[in-house]
Amino acid sequence: MVLVVEQRKAVVIGGGIGGLAAACGLRAAGWEPVVYERSPELREVGAGLSVAPNAARALDWLGLGESLRAAAQPQGIGVKSRSGRWMVRLRETDLVGRYGAPMYAMHRAELHGLLVEAVGSDGVRCGHRAVGIDNHPDGATVRFETASGPTEVAADLVIAADGVHSRTRSALFPDHGGATYAGYVCWRGIAPAGAVTPRNHPMWTDTWGRGGRFGAAPLTGGRVFWYASAGGAEGSMAQVGLSDLRERFAGWHDPIGALLDASDPATLLRNDIYYLGDPLPEFAVGRVGLLGDAAHAVTPDIGQGACLAVEDAVVLAQSLARHSDPGAALRAYDRARRPRTQKLAALSGRSARVQQTGHPVAAALRDLAVRLTPRRVYLAAGAEALAWRP
Ligand SMILES: Cc1cc2nc3c(=O)[nH]c(=O)nc-3n(C[C@H](O)[C@H](O)[C@H](O)COP(=O)(O)OP(=O)(O)OC[C@H]3O[C@@H](n4cnc5c(N)ncnc54)[C@H](O)[C@@H]3O)c2cc1C
Repeated sequence: MVLVVEQRKAVVIGGGIGGLAAACGLRAAGWEPVVYERSPELREVGAGLSVAPNAARALDWLGLGESLRAAAQPQGIGVKSRSGRWMVRLRETDLVGRYGAPMYAMHRAELHGLLVEAVGSDGVRCGHRAVGIDNHPDGATVRFETASGPTEVAADLVIAADGVHSRTRSALFPDHGGATYAGYVCWRGIAPAGAVTPRNHPMWTDTWGRGGRFGAAPLTGGRVFWYASAGGAEGSMAQVGLSDLRERFAGWHDPIGALLDASDPATLLRNDIYYLGDPLPEFAVGRVGLLGDAAHAVTPDIGQGACLAVEDAVVLAQSLARHSDPGAALRAYDRARRPRTQKLAALSGRSARVQQTGHPVAAALRDLAVRLTPRRVYLAAGAEALAWRP
């Protein structure tokens, strides 16, 4: 890794996985980043997520691979029918053989926590909501709202990692239509240790039905992370709780019912799913760069949103280490990241339509296609996302 000795000032908007990973990368490239987060504190939110081999390599590059492996559960991944029959199954050894790493599942709060620890509390200012941004020839100024009134921060470089509904993106690209609703709602929860045995739940399973899905993956400490989805209009199903999910997934294979029964209703998360279906013309304007969901949100169907954000952070750091002019570095970052991430965003939208289809014939054809696809072909199909290296 090339290290630039000069310390320069960067503002990162957003203290999610993307913003914190960006701060780690900026430090590695010799910059002095400060992360500004709108929430009053960095809360431990979210349920589980996948850290795929591409993201494991990105975290290795950032010096966080050991922390990842201490906190995450390595495993394989497969797809089942609602009766519990495997349609395709990739063992941990298959993934390691092909991609050099397994699929890791971890609690989002634990991934977030290890990034917070790496950045350090001095590097984060909470309670700062970015409300405006001005580019100037040698830097950019961000306007924030805080509890004690408005404030402005000028920096040589601004990285906006303010999520799928990014306000910075709207300011830079006022004609862009914003995020696209993917047509479904997702609920997530964590079942505590003991809810199911490792024997009946040894790996990440995604179960496909008609118009709905249920996924589950073991986390460390015997906990199991699960997610359930159903097609529906934006904003619908706001009142659906755990008991409704129990009814909706009644008759699906074990241990789906047991996982729902064991989960605490107070921790149930519900999200309408969005992605950036309308690609941006650029990820950088002047001295402001977009990163993570703000630049290229994908649907969870490919399990890559956070993974791509961590990749972005590595490529940004590499670009800044190679170019002394921050504007040139942002242009190099844009060129390196846009084709890959926009391709995967489009793929995620298509995957959502296939995986969520409620049409009986389409669902039957989908299941048949998956069952007939040889395992090695299925494994190779992941290369687009999983084979990435820093
Ligand atoms: C149901 C579901 C399941 C998922 N599963 C996976 C998975 O298995 N694997 C995976 O890799 N990804 C997964 N993802 C995607 C992943 O969660 C996101 O892609 C990732 O968190 C994006 O990180 P980010 O930092 O870009 O954005 P965010 O996590 O959204 O963070 C944005 C941050 O910016 C802050 N912010 C917003 N506006 C402002 C402002 N104006 N000023 C200051 N701060 C602001 C927010 O408070 C937030 O902290 C999933 C997503 C969902 C919804």
